[in-house]
Amino acid sequence: MKFLPMFMRIKDRPCLVVGGGDVAARKVALLQRAGAHVTVVAPALCEMLMQQSKDGQVTHQQAAFAPADVTDYALVIAATDDAAVNQRVSIATQERGVPVNVVDQPKLCTFIMPSIVDRSPVLIAVSSSGASPVLARLLRARLETFVPAAYGRLAALVEKFRTQVKVRFKTTNERRIFWEKILQGPVAEMLFAGQEKAAYAALEHAVQNASAGEQATGEVYVVGGGPGDPDLLTFRALRLMQQADVVLYDRLITQEVLDLTRRDAERIYVGKRRNYHTVRQDEIHELMVRLAKQGKRVLRLKGGDPFMFGRGGEEIDTLAEEGIPFQVVPGITAATGCAAYAGIPLTHRDCAQSCIFVTGHLKDGSINLNWDTLVQPQQTVVIYMGLKGLQILCRELMTHGMAGNMPAALVEQGTTPRQRVFIGNLETLPNIVKAADVHAPTLVIVGEVVRLQEKLAWFEPMTTSNANPT
Ligand code: SAH
Repeated sequence: MKFLPMFMRIKDRPCLVVGGGDVAARKVALLQRAGAHVTVVAPALCEMLMQQSKDGQVTHQQAAFAPADVTDYALVIAATDDAAVNQRVSIATQERGVPVNVVDQPKLCTFIMPSIVDRSPVLIAVSSSGASPVLARLLRARLETFVPAAYGRLAALVEKFRTQVKVRFKTTNERRIFWEKILQGPVAEMLFAGQEKAAYAALEHAVQNASAGEQATGEVYVVGGGPGDPDLLTFRALRLMQQADVVLYDRLITQEVLDLTRRDAERIYVGKRRNYHTVRQDEIHELMVRLAKQGKRVLRLKGGDPFMFGRGGEEIDTLAEEGIPFQVVPGITAATGCAAYAGIPLTHRDCAQSCIFVTGHLKDGSINLNWDTLVQPQQTVVIYMGLKGLQILCRELMTHGMAGNMPAALVEQGTTPRQRVFIGNLETLPNIVKAADVHAPTLVIVGEVVRLQEKLAWFEPMTTSNANPT
């Protein structure tokens, strides 16, 4: 180990930054976050430091650096662009036994600054011992994605109960087991999902009842898996996918997304079966409730966004009735995913000031939509589940006044390597489906914005052979 990692208390202590540029400003900001009183020595200041000096947030000594300056500081940082000055700061500071850091010059430092993930009071510091600050920053970015934003609040909550837990559990081993369960269970998840009061109550309950040996309750994560490209998952979705014990997923979930669920989780398919019999919605509800009551962490993984034509509302309704903890994680819905990957902006200042999402699902052979609101000018219409009823959809839109040559697009398996985009208009669209053998899942986009696709398409799926037959 080239350096000893430490965390230093500099709250209310004087610290010195030599240099007045942008780099110095960043170091000043960092020291201030830790509560230091910062003095800046520099002949001139950048705009940000100038403002801070005016506001009294930093003390400015307008002068060139002189060795005597470093006395009486808890630490010194040199951030000038003059190598000779930096060196003098380093020598002078070391002579007085004060810790010194020279930006980007590890040899002149007695301490170096790590990249940090700040979830105060939780801090993760990453260092490459000066070998490659960029590498440390990249690693930090990866950690950022894995550590929930509310980790600090979790630590603060735990702190409130530390004494109580110490009284309740006599041995460190008992306490460790208790905390491990809490920090990886519903209490933590409630807090991450912003349910602070519920988390507090659940933790209080757990502390009081822990010795009763009750079975842990499970929980359900209703997670939007997005339209297909795994890169479009949210950080939270990914984290929950990797800690679930059992996964209930349906037809829209691509293999690429499913592959990111925990390897040893049980996976249950609840979409359409081979004989086209769909697992009934109430059967899914029952299954979720049963698994959660067994103490399992159940991931209900749904295509796109759970609340967008996804029956997410019905599912959590049952969970709420049963008193099972749950949370909902939004996902990128097919409309925004497909629009982006097809190069069709859903709104545009020149031709669409509004956008409407509807379902084209057929019920008894007809589609029950408010056609007059759909045919409004300057509006984009996005139709989910519109493939089967496409002929009726196009016909009704025209009957209600939309021009037959209104541009329209089909996006099949949007955002995946198998994406196909077909451009036509209300008259030609149904024939394109037949000619190109288009299958679900396919999204229909109707409106002037579709014209922009020709210029704006950027995504190159792997199978381009059949794309854009128009
Ligand atoms: N909750 C989902 C929608 C479920 S309804 C969401 O927010 O996206 C199912 C319909 O969504 C499909 O019939 C299709 O119209 C659309 N859809 C979902 N994923 C799609 C994809 N990758 N490409 C094209 N359409 C998609």
